[in-house]
Amino acid sequence: MIRPGAESLRKIAVIGQGTAGSLAAASVTGLHLGDGHELHHIYDSRIPVIGVGEGSWPSLVQELRKLTSLPHETVQQRLKGTRKYGVIFEGWGRRDRDFTHYFTPQQVGYAYHLSADLMADLLREGTCARHIDAKVLDITRVEGGARVEFEDRAPDRYDLVFDARGFPKELHPDRHIDIAFIPTNTAVIRRGPAIIEAERDGLVLQHTYTRAVARPHGWIFVIPLTVHTSYGYIFNRDVSSLAEVESDFDAFLETDGVSEFEQRAVIPFPNFVHRQIYDGAVARIGNAAAFMEPLEATAIVSAQLQIGMVLQTRLNRPPEHLERDTPVVNRFLINNMLCYGLFVGWHYSCGSKYDSDFWRYACEHAWPRHRKATDPGSVDCAALSKFDEMIELLNRPVIDKTDWDRMCAVPLTSYAQMSQGLGCQALQ
Ligand SMILES: Cc1cc2nc3c(=O)[nH]c(=O)nc-3n(C[C@H](O)[C@H](O)[C@H](O)COP(=O)(O)OP(=O)(O)OC[C@H]3O[C@@H](n4cnc5c(N)ncnc54)[C@H](O)[C@@H]3O)c2cc1C
Repeated sequence: MIRPGAESLRKIAVIGQGTAGSLAAASVTGLHLGDGHELHHIYDSRIPVIGVGEGSWPSLVQELRKLTSLPHETVQQRLKGTRKYGVIFEGWGRRDRDFTHYFTPQQVGYAYHLSADLMADLLREGTCARHIDAKVLDITRVEGGARVEFEDRAPDRYDLVFDARGFPKELHPDRHIDIAFIPTNTAVIRRGPAIIEAERDGLVLQHTYTRAVARPHGWIFVIPLTVHTSYGYIFNRDVSSLAEVESDFDAFLETDGVSEFEQRAVIPFPNFVHRQIYDGAVARIGNAAAFMEPLEATAIVSAQLQIGMVLQTRLNRPPEHLERDTPVVNRFLINNMLCYGLFVGWHYSCGSKYDSDFWRYACEHAWPRHRKATDPGSVDCAALSKFDEMIELLNRPVIDKTDWDRMCAVPLTSYAQMSQGLGCQALQ
């Protein structure tokens, strides 16, 4: 196999061992670059990984099979996972009717509900790297690569660096596109007993779904794993107080028959897309590249895309094309992340069965900001027009067969199911 870029990838660093860093290190290992190539997997063991992230998209099933060389059933058992066929939306939209957003093909395509920690462990087993436990202080571009500065350790130079250090400490308009048209910014995470029974050897074949339940202050996810069930209340801390949310969370769990649960964490999060996901030498991936609330579990699939795009272009294109390729790859990734953001934000556009401060804020204040936030002049990509085209297609009396495979981060079928379910025939 001719891989014209292999020579320019002699020394690669992955920084971070959360979901994104673990995926990147395993993906680099999977390239089998051979002798003379080095991979350094660097992380600061004093800085914890975020450790949530239990929903995924179907492409992860194939990816984990490829990266681990294990059968699907074994992967699923190792993840304490269940098969996710879609998301059940309860109380969302104008129609006051619960509905399901299925993966395509419906009832066939499935993803995993998985334990994020176990997935990182599984990926690490198959990763061949030098492990370095150190704090990274800075990453700077140098001729033909990047230089990484450490605390208490000499700096090192790499041909390519994957920066998977998690959320930025703060958003800066020069560096980050703020996608605050997504109206939530905090999660309360709880864990309850399993509600799914393993059928044999810990394997669950039955179809399971993430539940996304609208509540007065936001929504609650319910994710069934074989060992426990994860619950998360997603809300906006500037609109509702933590005490109000905790109290509504208690009420929900009581109605759901969950009498015992473990309080896990309160996690504030930004909704943003980095303007420079890839600069030719440094690729930001995972929560360092972009983040949006977990309504459609878009984080792992985004990390897959970021890692795959960067590795494939670096490997398969001659190094002399690097300068020309870099802005194209960067724009492609930003465009995709913004398309995910628009898809997720749109879920709020038709409100819910609650006429509360949160839902008024979401519909009347947050979502209307999506056009300005993704204006092509300020984000340098066409995500907004791609999104508009999908909505325009949905409003046609007949969708031509040639358009059936169209995508705006997710397939047209996902837009059609959400549009029907939410009851948003006319968008604006
Ligand atoms: C409430 C919530 C629910 C979510 N649900 C889902 C979901 O259902 N599906 C989904 O796909 N995603 C979900 N996510 C996203 C999930 O967080 C990400 O998929 C995943 O955690 C990726 O994180 P990461 O690897 O980028 O960063 P992190 O997990 O934050 O890892 C950062 C790593 O970088 C290291 N590090 C940091 N700073 C330094 C430094 N200076 N030097 C060296 N090392 C450093 C840390 O030690 C750590 O190893 C959810 C997120 C939240 C907040």
